Amino acid sequence: IMDKIKLGKKVLNELEHHGYKAYFVGGFIRDLLLNREINDIDIATDAHPEKVMSIFSKTIPTGKKHGTITVLMEGIPFEVTTFRSEGKYLDYRHPTEVKFVSNIEEDLSRRDFTINAIAMSKNEDIIDPFNGKKALEDGMIVAVGNPEKRFLEDPLRMMRAIRFASQLNFKIEEQTYRAIVAKAPYLRYIATERIKIELDKIMVSKFPEIGIKLLYETTLINWVKGFEHTSITRINYEEVCKFIKLTEDPLIRWFLLLIQIDQKDHSLIMSHLRFSNKERDNVKKIFQAHSILEAGLEEVNFKKCLVETGESYCLKLVKIFFLLGHITESEKNKLIKKVMRINGDLPAKEIEDLAISGRDLINHFNQPGGPWIKVILNRLLEMVIYDNLANETNILLQQAKLILEEKKDEG
Ligand code: ATP
Ligand code: MG
Repeated sequence: IMDKIKLGKKVLNELEHHGYKAYFVGGFIRDLLLNREINDIDIATDAHPEKVMSIFSKTIPTGKKHGTITVLMEGIPFEVTTFRSEGKYLDYRHPTEVKFVSNIEEDLSRRDFTINAIAMSKNEDIIDPFNGKKALEDGMIVAVGNPEKRFLEDPLRMMRAIRFASQLNFKIEEQTYRAIVAKAPYLRYIATERIKIELDKIMVSKFPEIGIKLLYETTLINWVKGFEHTSITRINYEEVCKFIKLTEDPLIRWFLLLIQIDQKDHSLIMSHLRFSNKERDNVKKIFQAHSILEAGLEEVNFKKCLVETGESYCLKLVKIFFLLGHITESEKNKLIKKVMRINGDLPAKEIEDLAISGRDLINHFNQPGGPWIKVILNRLLEMVIYDNLANETNILLQQAKLILEEKKDEG
């Protein structure tokens, strides 16, 4: 990381050498002062994007319109953004114009929260006109300037406030908090993709319970599409908070939230938030595993769960039952071993695993193919899994004969 900072200083040097001002800013300074892991390094400069591109040999015009150029210094990317002022917002989404400015203070004043509005020169002098350092020490999220105005300019900032609170275990300062409550309805103008990114960050954060609590208590959640019917009066969000902090698995965290919400709203929420097919499938499977094992922790249900959802979901459910206090830690550990044993011992999980195929049935019984094949194979699979029928060709054919005779008798 020191190497990365050194390279960053090289970028600052290069810009200064060409007569421009340049500073480290934003999330990088925040995380540096907090001693947190550093993601990307943000740099602000008065050089316009074109100039930045001409100064460095390797650049990517990442967000050139908004003034952002990615500079690659020895392969490491730096986000270099030209000093900007807050543009006028017409639609709560995009500033209608980007106005470049010449001093860092003005650039810092358009940033969302004081903890994100600190700059540092290459000599490590701190520029902190909004007392961001103090807010970092106090653990406070404070809007830069008038919070209501700032949230009207870009309502996503309300989600960001809550996201930072759950990443950092910070409180939201009172005026800023009240502005979220007052302006929450404006979140409906924000593209769901952007909201989903913040929700995901809350779900993988260190203190998701803080995020969930704030989302409900500020009522901001009511303006996330799909969640309209899950307001504080209808969902036991305290239950969610109580359990969600006991796991780091984001899927289990989503489960613990969704389980409090009417199941008919799940697909609505997932489609509004544009869950990927993979994410939807994960949620579907975890609920499927839940409904199978909810009926009881007998061996037959574990088998069913393993066959229908697979080992990882089955194990997740055991963990969930432990989290929820349904089973003790030692029961959990025993069940984990048991699930792994049952899974290892399963002779088959799908009809493709059987020792006979549809073709074998057609040849053996000398009958044309048809729906009967699937019926027989499914019945055989059930017997192999649940009734200890041996998965061997001769035995399966014998059993198939019995099943066919039974069916004939039934007429
Ligand atoms: P992280 O990268 O850890 O998610 P970050 O603070 O770096 O957090 P980015 O989205 O990378 O967030 O933005 C970099 C900086 O740009 C922020 O620190 C903040 O100063 C500013 N910024 C980002 N989004 C907004 C916004 N919606 N309104 C005002 N300023 C913003
Ligand atoms: Mg960042």
